[in-house]
Amino acid sequence: MTRERLYIFDTTLRDGAQTQGVDFSVEDKRQIALALDNLGVDYIEGGWPGANPTDSAFFAERPKLLKARFTAFGMTKRAGRSAANDPSLAPVLDAAVDAICLVGKTSAYQVEVALEISLVDNLDNIARSMEAIAAKKREPLFDAEHFFDGYKANPDYALSCLRTAHEAGAKWLVLCDTNGGTMPEEAYAIVSAVKEKLPGAALGIHAHNDTEQAVAVSLAAIRAGARQVQGTLNGLGERCGNANLCSLLPNLMLKEPFASQFETGITRDNLKQISHVSRLLDEILNRSPNRYAPYVGASAFTHKGGLHVSAVMKNPQTYEHVPPEAVGNKRTMPVSSQSGRANVAANLAMEGGKPDLARLLQDVKHREFEGYSYDDAQASFELLALRQQKKLPRYFTVEKFSVTVESVRDEDDQMVSQSRAEVELIVAGERITSTGTGNGPVNALDAALRKDLGKYSPFLADLRLVDYKVRILTTGTEAVTRVTVESADGKGNRWSTVGVSENIVDASFEALTDSIVYKLYRDQARS
Ligand SMILES: [Zn+2]
Repeated sequence: MTRERLYIFDTTLRDGAQTQGVDFSVEDKRQIALALDNLGVDYIEGGWPGANPTDSAFFAERPKLLKARFTAFGMTKRAGRSAANDPSLAPVLDAAVDAICLVGKTSAYQVEVALEISLVDNLDNIARSMEAIAAKKREPLFDAEHFFDGYKANPDYALSCLRTAHEAGAKWLVLCDTNGGTMPEEAYAIVSAVKEKLPGAALGIHAHNDTEQAVAVSLAAIRAGARQVQGTLNGLGERCGNANLCSLLPNLMLKEPFASQFETGITRDNLKQISHVSRLLDEILNRSPNRYAPYVGASAFTHKGGLHVSAVMKNPQTYEHVPPEAVGNKRTMPVSSQSGRANVAANLAMEGGKPDLARLLQDVKHREFEGYSYDDAQASFELLALRQQKKLPRYFTVEKFSVTVESVRDEDDQMVSQSRAEVELIVAGERITSTGTGNGPVNALDAALRKDLGKYSPFLADLRLVDYKVRILTTGTEAVTRVTVESADGKGNRWSTVGVSENIVDASFEALTDSIVYKLYRDQARS
């Protein structure tokens, strides 16, 4: 059976840039565009040329895309001016792109209230703008703003806008649920009605997530006949975001009826990049990835309950709806004293090791009694198992370290505190002493520790701390401190390590050294 082609349109760099707290640089945009192209999306909407300096600079030097159609966004021309003489449309029409997507109003209410022009003038604006794109030999796309709300209030006018765009040469009519309030059933009914009225037009769907159903609305629209779907990585976008491509793509490619009915420009092999691309975006935005995100989140294939774990080890299908490898994610099993031997065995089997299970489990239980927790520190657990198997190289030895914290009253009568740390290490037989300063003792220690690791220094260039958590625990009669450190590298990898001690500095130092050792091991540094 031949499958129908479904086109994927990414708007992370345009609609996604509307997210509160998101501010892409030109270089960020370039990096994301290349990752999307590599993934295999059909259209990459880069922004609005002329609307702000970043977008203008991004369009001035077209990213080197192999496959995706580079797309500029803009708005249909204003009334009383020609398209070429509209200062906000002219730079869009002149951009070096393959396609141009213009948003236009299709809701009679919005035309009269927001635009304050006549319904007829709005139709003329749509037609002239689409013709102007075609005249520039770019592929014209029409984003039908507020289409679903407009259709519900005045279906005839909403349809006449689509018809006008279609007749003026728009290759795609993209139905936008701009306010994000449409329910999947409504979307299905309305897209079906449009399909019937305009059988020759190619329809797209652009859904927002204000009812947490942007993905469901997109799927419903596709079932009703839409053949282009717009969305963003990680569901980035204004208010509650856009349809999340990181969920939408696996749904389309791994789930029925979509998997059998459609093909996209993304191969099953490329779909394995989706977890990486999702994390890369968070990395660029300097945000913590949502570990509970379907398909791509760190917890999406994490099994904790003891019964679940033993079943998953017999056959992963018992508690997994798709294999994690299909989306480039990983199965993980946190280690805790309750979940028992099954977890430990599974974790080690994944590491390709063959340790003394009984001894390791005993070790884990003993350490948990002391205050360690490996649920959120998988990297420290892996190191523990590697050390037991004597598979972990000794990269460096810490001879001693010290930290001082000094608070001084300054000229403005404010107490200013500065921390200074000194670390003495042996690296490849060589003694190295480093000092570091920071706005706290942990910060200073981290700086000193990473300042000079001899031949290993290049491996640490892209290492950074992204989270630091402290808990005070009472074990028996003593209080101990547990520190969990989350680290990241430039490739979008994240890992967590743990340290426990009666004092916070020692606990932090242990977690920090584990983080470094883990990175050296994972990046295959030679000892
Ligand atoms: Zn939007």
